[in-house]
Amino acid sequence: MAGSYYRVRCSDCENEQIVFGKAASEVACAVCGTTLAVPTGGKAEIEHEILETVEAR
Ligand SMILES: [Zn+2]
Repeated sequence: MAGSYYRVRCSDCENEQIVFGKAASEVACAVCGTTLAVPTGGKAEIEHEILETVEAR
């Protein structure tokens, strides 16, 4: 079963980045290095603005 991806906007530098909804490790912003998502054992906790959900194909 595929998970979803989220397009997240970093609240620090406004970089937009695709984050896997069930990330198993921390996801950092590619531009400024801020943590965008924290793994919680299942669904990743995303602390920034989610612009849209992108269904995996
Ligand atoms: Zn950033």
